[in-house]
Amino acid sequence: MQTYAYRFPRLGRNREFKTAVENFWDNKINDKELVGLLDAVEKERLASYKKYIDIFPLGESTYYDTILDTAFIFGVYKFKNLNEYFEYARGKRALALKKYFNSNYHYLVPFLPKGIKFPLTWNKPFLYADASSFKGNPVSLIGPYTFLRLSRTENDFNSMMANLCESYKRLFAQLKTNGVHTVHLEEPAFCDDVSGDDVRLIVKNYRNLIDGDLKINLITYYGSVDFLPRLYGIPFHAFALDFVSNRENFLTLSKKGFPKDKKIICGVVDGRGIKRCNIFDAVKFTRKIQKICHASDESVLVSNSAPLFHVPVTIENETVLDASIKKNLSFAQEKLYELYLIKSAWEGKTASARAWCAHLPAERSVAKKKVFDTLSLKPGEFAQRKSIQQKVLKLPLFPVTTIGSFPQDKELRKARFEFKSKHLSLHDYDDFIRDKISGLIEKEEELGLDVLVHGEFERTDMVEYFAQRLTGFLTTENGWVISYGTRVYRPPIIYKKITRNNVLALKEMFYAQSLVPRIVKGILSGPVTILAWSYNLRPEPVYEIAFELAAALNKEAKALEANKIKIVQIDEPAIREFAPLKERDKDFYYRWAVRAFNIAAQLSPYTQVHLHMCYSEFGEIIKWILKMNFDVLTVEAARDKGKILAALSGKNFDRSLGPGVWDIHSKYPASEKTIRTILDKSIKIVGVRNVWINPDCGLKTRAWPEVETSLQRMVKIARIYRKKFKKHRVK
Ligand code: GLN
Ligand code: ZN
Repeated sequence: MQTYAYRFPRLGRNREFKTAVENFWDNKINDKELVGLLDAVEKERLASYKKYIDIFPLGESTYYDTILDTAFIFGVYKFKNLNEYFEYARGKRALALKKYFNSNYHYLVPFLPKGIKFPLTWNKPFLYADASSFKGNPVSLIGPYTFLRLSRTENDFNSMMANLCESYKRLFAQLKTNGVHTVHLEEPAFCDDVSGDDVRLIVKNYRNLIDGDLKINLITYYGSVDFLPRLYGIPFHAFALDFVSNRENFLTLSKKGFPKDKKIICGVVDGRGIKRCNIFDAVKFTRKIQKICHASDESVLVSNSAPLFHVPVTIENETVLDASIKKNLSFAQEKLYELYLIKSAWEGKTASARAWCAHLPAERSVAKKKVFDTLSLKPGEFAQRKSIQQKVLKLPLFPVTTIGSFPQDKELRKARFEFKSKHLSLHDYDDFIRDKISGLIEKEEELGLDVLVHGEFERTDMVEYFAQRLTGFLTTENGWVISYGTRVYRPPIIYKKITRNNVLALKEMFYAQSLVPRIVKGILSGPVTILAWSYNLRPEPVYEIAFELAAALNKEAKALEANKIKIVQIDEPAIREFAPLKERDKDFYYRWAVRAFNIAAQLSPYTQVHLHMCYSEFGEIIKWILKMNFDVLTVEAARDKGKILAALSGKNFDRSLGPGVWDIHSKYPASEKTIRTILDKSIKIVGVRNVWINPDCGLKTRAWPEVETSLQRMVKIARIYRKKFKKHRVK
């Protein structure tokens, strides 16, 4: 048996990737220097593999995103230099960001126009390796079906697939001439819902694409492949299957067997969680797979179950994490070691494996599919709340607000750093934050915003901050994970019962409200999002943890309400992303997820509840959004100038809507024309009286000049619209 691993994080042990790319953007280094720095990170990444892994792909790295790279390889876009490359990620030509399946990694969405022929354009597979290094290793590529599913397509899908596969065929031929013998082809979309028509399309095109001369390892992850047996007739060299997400792949193999001539790459080490792997269970399980597949030792490989970029680089970077917890954890580097241990134990060498698993706690119990009551209000109750709130809040038409965070500048990062390194006392740090808050409040009044926010300066991150104040969480020092491009976050770790023993963020919000008569909106991160963006070590079913979190957050929300905060916003950007991929599993998930939100949002009708979601394709889950107890929904809408809002049409949406009118991933300020277009669309959908104006999301990563310009424009347009629709005002 052999070890196989893929998608080890590109970030670098000390976030060297992020530093290098951002320095390039800031013109601190040139493109040659950038390439040099990234080569060094890549070398270290490959060295991690080489230490423990028999087979790993080459060419996995990227300047920004692998899906964007695939678009460049197949001529959807072209670039001549790195500045042009990054234009597609963050410049004038920036593509939309979307969550990669049900993960918090965001990819760039290519647009494939009618008739596109996919000319081979970029030689990426040769970027990180010369022909000699291909010897034992496959070359990494995203598969055609996944690429199409993740893109926005204008043409008929079938002919596009045929054209694209022709290009893959040509690419494969080129690879072969250049000494490549194996391709690592990732098709996670095979684990999504795939229609019967698509299965036929896949089978037909792959038959034509693969001639057996070049070996193709088909890599699937994030779930099971329902149509696996249909792929048996295609001359793939190996199948990588996820055995961690659920038992379905295993059941398929038990029922349908596995072709004798193919290798099976068993994804048994969790690529997405950080719980240490029980090596002996993994060996036992892999033996079982071997048996039902009637496979020889040579045909079995062990692997990670999903890309390793979902976990931080190494646990070695954690110096203060509680030792009793640390010995139950494993990050990417350690997962490679686990694969090596599985192989060793398989071969009878068990001493190291024994030491590795000496302290493992109980396994997670499988969540039983109960039908939870979502605790939704009746439709009429929202109208009642609306009329009460109109009297309490006395807001103008088209109230202008923001989503919560404001630019976190150097000064703030410096203060945080000094506080952390004990050069600044808690008292002085608190004073500093208060000054930031009062400065912002003044600024917001000056700008003429209608509902103010305190700016979230105390929060490093919307999840980590809450995790640090709730009981039941641990946070890491260096457990960074990329969420998109060079943006990183540190997911906290849930390890015991979650309770709110201390206040979370209300001090800062009360302070902000004490400064002004104008309404300050209190902002909390939602239970599902906190759960989705944390690692979970607990054995209980996941919904129980969601309800615990929701109850803790509701305590905080109630405390806000009891202290003059009239609007409470709960952020749930992760609610769709955390959903299982397949339709048949969704009802169960959304029932408990909506219930969790509704527990957190249980407030009197005098308190207006805002739900903020972003980059979550809310259009697909309207049915569930309507079951959530909020009064105002804020969603991103700027990139496609409000087209996304059409999803709300004809759905009896009886609440208010705050469409994002400024794309906060772009460095350019909001345009007045776009603001107007989006407002006009919103008015058509929810009516004049129910439209708010706000940016797509928080402004944490933006700079003040563009923030100021954008907010000024929003206020200006709001005033124009108020005049225009004067007669609609509620007296
Ligand atoms: N309130 C958060 C902010 O403004 C929301 C962030 C998010 O939705 N991702 O930063
Ligand atoms: Zn957001």
